[in-house]
Amino acid sequence: MLTLTQDSVSLGRTASDWRDALDQAGQSLCEAGLAEDGYRQALFDRESQSSTFLGNGIAIPHGTPDSRQFVKKTGVRVLQFPDGVTWHDGAHVTLVITIAAQSDEHLDILRALTHVLDRDGVADQLSRAGNAEEVINLLSRSPAPPTKLDEETLMVGVPARDRLELATAAAARLRQLGCADEMFVTDILDQTPVSLGQKLWLVRSRHGVKQPALGFATPQPALNETAGVFCLAELGDGHVSLMERLIGLLEDGKGEELARVSPQQILARLSGESSDAETAKVRVRNAHGLHARPAKQLVQVAREQALDIKVRLMEGEQPAVSATSLTKVIGLGARRGQMLVFSAQGQGASAALEAMVNAVRDGLGEVVTPLDDTAAARPSRNKTKYTQVEPPAADTALVAVSASPGMAIAPLFVMRLPDFKYEEYASDQAGERARLETAIGQAHHQLETLIDQAPGGEVAEILSMHEEMVQDPELKEAAFEAISEGLSAEAGWWKAIDTSARAQEALADRLLAERAADLRDVGRRVLGILCGAEMPQPPEHPYILVMEDVGPSDVAQLDTSKVKGLLTAKGGATSHSAILARALGIPAVVGAGDTVLALKSGIEMILDGERGRVIPEPSQERRDRAELSIKEREQRVKEAFDARFEDATTQDGHRIEVCANLGNTAHAADAVERGAEGVGLLRTEFVFMAHPDAPDLETQISEYSEAFDALGTTRPLVARTLDVGGDKPLDYWPVPQEDNPFLGLRGIRLALTKPDILETQIRALLMAAGDRPLRIMFPMVKDVAEFHAAKAIVDRVREDVQASDVQVGVMIEIPSCALLAPSLAPHVDFFSIGTNDLTQYTLAIDRGHSQLSSQADGLHPAVLRLIKMTVDAAHAEGRWVGVCGELASDAQAVPVLVGLGVDELSVAARQVALVKSRVRELTLADSKTLANQMLALPTSTAVRDALEAL
Ligand code: PEP
Ligand code: MG
Repeated sequence: MLTLTQDSVSLGRTASDWRDALDQAGQSLCEAGLAEDGYRQALFDRESQSSTFLGNGIAIPHGTPDSRQFVKKTGVRVLQFPDGVTWHDGAHVTLVITIAAQSDEHLDILRALTHVLDRDGVADQLSRAGNAEEVINLLSRSPAPPTKLDEETLMVGVPARDRLELATAAAARLRQLGCADEMFVTDILDQTPVSLGQKLWLVRSRHGVKQPALGFATPQPALNETAGVFCLAELGDGHVSLMERLIGLLEDGKGEELARVSPQQILARLSGESSDAETAKVRVRNAHGLHARPAKQLVQVAREQALDIKVRLMEGEQPAVSATSLTKVIGLGARRGQMLVFSAQGQGASAALEAMVNAVRDGLGEVVTPLDDTAAARPSRNKTKYTQVEPPAADTALVAVSASPGMAIAPLFVMRLPDFKYEEYASDQAGERARLETAIGQAHHQLETLIDQAPGGEVAEILSMHEEMVQDPELKEAAFEAISEGLSAEAGWWKAIDTSARAQEALADRLLAERAADLRDVGRRVLGILCGAEMPQPPEHPYILVMEDVGPSDVAQLDTSKVKGLLTAKGGATSHSAILARALGIPAVVGAGDTVLALKSGIEMILDGERGRVIPEPSQERRDRAELSIKEREQRVKEAFDARFEDATTQDGHRIEVCANLGNTAHAADAVERGAEGVGLLRTEFVFMAHPDAPDLETQISEYSEAFDALGTTRPLVARTLDVGGDKPLDYWPVPQEDNPFLGLRGIRLALTKPDILETQIRALLMAAGDRPLRIMFPMVKDVAEFHAAKAIVDRVREDVQASDVQVGVMIEIPSCALLAPSLAPHVDFFSIGTNDLTQYTLAIDRGHSQLSSQADGLHPAVLRLIKMTVDAAHAEGRWVGVCGELASDAQAVPVLVGLGVDELSVAARQVALVKSRVRELTLADSKTLANQMLALPTSTAVRDALEAL
């Protein structure tokens, strides 16, 4: 947009001829400090190449590209010659807008101008304007911002179940693209899509719109009454013409067809191109884009054709314009490298289009270098930028996310991805397609071999998923389409991968979003084959592997007998690297940040998977200590296991109950065998996740009975009612896309929206329990009102179902509940503290955040204080308190929790024996003193340091 002040405008000038006018223009630029003297000659040089007369009485003199050295600052000066000046090409000029531009900014100025001048009568008003303000107003009036509509706003084949989900997906995409914010998405979610006819629907909103945009989502598989949903983000009236074109298509009965054609064809139809039109694409080669001179040449060639030619930018948001209108063509603002799409209809269309394409290829009167030949080999956009960072200091602990337990001492092997280099463009499209086809075939073959060699279980499953991905016909088709637009096989393939991965990343569901990493992993495999890039070879001796993130195929290629530990820069506890490390039993620390990639291969490191920390180049002293603790750990594990069936009683006679956390009821017997005194947390959502639909009463009874049977008549089962939403998605219970799913519909809030499901679950639990001890607790409760709402269901069902030993409690996971524990305690039978969520909500750190989650430490004094409040309130009413979050199995945290008065610890089954043995080492009196000391400290680091120093 032009920024003009009163000083930019000079009215009522006279000139003896065009030279005089041009000289005055140059002088005004110099006087305004925008250009040096040399620029005045450059204005004449430019006119000698071709006239800068734009039309409507306006000339726009500017310097030649090589005169930019004389430009001090980009700007314009407007000179009005009311009597008119005859320009050297015979045109009548009344307004001279002279431009000093340091780079291609003049294109934007031209573009803004053409929008202004396009409006009827404006040029005339400008020549007659009596004051500068009037001119400024006329020139500065910004055009309606263009409505974004391109491949990014189109979502073809969304796996949606109804039109609301399509609308949600389209709105979320517009938000992700920065066109709108969460207010927009919320507003769209509140709407019922309006029918446009022909199975097309529309949702629209002005709330939270930053850039007008039109999204369009089509379903896959097809839906009955819905071919697609348009989602309009409105701002100003820029969308009006676009919507008129859409209505026009509907009036011609061509609406439904939009949902069947490719994204490119959708864009073509909505840009005003007729479906019968022939099209031809060509990239702009001119160094400074389609500025006035080449645009003029293009217009001339278009006028020479017998047919109407339209042109548009392929990636742009603008409609196709007449190629014979100079202002419209300049108004496209096309830059070098952008693709123009010409269209024409009727006999001779192909020849006319060919003429246009050739003219653009030949440079439109300028000397141009073909893009294909000049595009430098450039590193791919998937390259990791970690070369500039400093590595972590030697012999210093770096804390990250603990992903898999165990400790290792070994030299490092830092695996950096190869720097894929390739040409961005290529002209032999058939050849590029064949190269890609071969590379995909080879990648597929590699994956088959890897699956055969894989250790099985999760690794093989993930690799099979990769095998599916690499053969995905849509990925290949998208890559082929990019190749037909002039990209090389590598660039086309990566474009297809990147687009798809970004769509995946936009999903609110973290687990699905993480599959973007799998797509990129598959993408790099094919890219590596295309570029002939060699993966670095690991050493022959045992090592700790350091990587940005460990892709499944990397793990599958690892010789697990040599990999002693895994350290990654990225990834949270739910990333594949973490899941796989646990599956393979390799100690792992993840999300340590990019600095670890700057470490040198060969240096030694201590990796502590238990505490989530690493120490590069440890001193001999630390090394000796670590070796000792590895040996001690082995011994401790053995001794603890031998004593697993004994009580966990402190040396001064205080008993702590140690139970197991379970997801799968079939594992209850194993938990008992590992010494568990009950199940302290049954995550019942896993029972629900294991079924394609909500499991019915009988199914649930049989699942829960399996756990009760394994526990016998005295060991309790603490069942948490269904806890979905947030980080725990359930396919058949979709939650609308939320900006903050962790603060949204989850836990008991969500369950209470479908009380019948909750009631069936409670009935199944009570029926399965019979006379055996059942403890029911509700997740994510925020206050007593929510507890009462949920408890009412239990009370109702207990009127029909006999169960003799039942307690009802709440999980303390939200700080409000801990703060209000005194108001809850009289109504509940027990509390179980979910320290994972309690920590996340207290410290405002997403528990799965790849960079921050290492700071989400449950030993933070703020969390400890909330635990103390909960315990004090419960004990005052004679209620018991358990801890079922991960903190309960943290060896450093156990004495603190015991000291705070917690009665029960519920931990992963394989940790039960170790936690019991830890309790036996303590006295309650010392633990109380310790806990009080920790409560007084200011940070979790201070707490950990103090505990370490003991
Ligand atoms: C917790 O939040 O600490 C907890 C035990 O529940 P989950 O980890 O299943 O959210
Ligand atoms: Mg929780």
